[in-house]
Amino acid sequence: MTKFITPLGQIAIIILGHASFLIQWQGRNIFIDPYSKVANYAQQPHANLVLITHHHSDHLDKAALAKITDSSTVFVTSVTAGKNIKGANALKIGEEFNYEGIGIKAVYAYNIVQKRDDGQPFHPKGEGNGYILNFGGFRVYIAGDTELIPEMKSLGDIDVAFLPKNLPYTMSDEMFIEAAKTIKPKKLFPYHYFELNTEAIKSKLPEGITLYTE
Ligand code: ZN
Ligand code: ZN
Repeated sequence: MTKFITPLGQIAIIILGHASFLIQWQGRNIFIDPYSKVANYAQQPHANLVLITHHHSDHLDKAALAKITDSSTVFVTSVTAGKNIKGANALKIGEEFNYEGIGIKAVYAYNIVQKRDDGQPFHPKGEGNGYILNFGGFRVYIAGDTELIPEMKSLGDIDVAFLPKNLPYTMSDEMFIEAAKTIKPKKLFPYHYFELNTEAIKSKLPEGITLYTE
């Protein structure tokens, strides 16, 4: 568990594996892309808010959702993922949702280089969401399944970033470093990885970025 102080109070980040983690804030449990293959969701607390970046089965997992959600759970999703969840607040790119004072903005997440055999990107532009959570000015960027994209230049100040790292779906180690240099988050969590060479990544990160792996 890693804790950070924001103008809206403390947040605690609990990594659950792959692209899923939990943010605890003011007694609320905010789950991101809960995925039952990497954690036992029967042992997780009730979800007050769930963010789903996109509809792929490692991000939108009904088995995990069944364990932590009920009719009181608020969902924020991509438009495609929202079609599978009753009552979801589906955000198009650029749209925002306010959850009890936390601003949640949908931003681009897509592939430029990596494509399927049929030539389609694994993640077409505009289909999935990244999110920026704004805790009173303390901004948490959850990149979703994306490569380094031009829009990362204009995210603004990012305090904490979650950036994906694995091929072929997201970023190579080199691209991950370039994305970190572009976004310049104060704190950086790699996620969505199969393997992680922490020392190699640390040695290539510019000063001012602290790497977190748990
Ligand atoms: Zn995906
Ligand atoms: Zn994925």
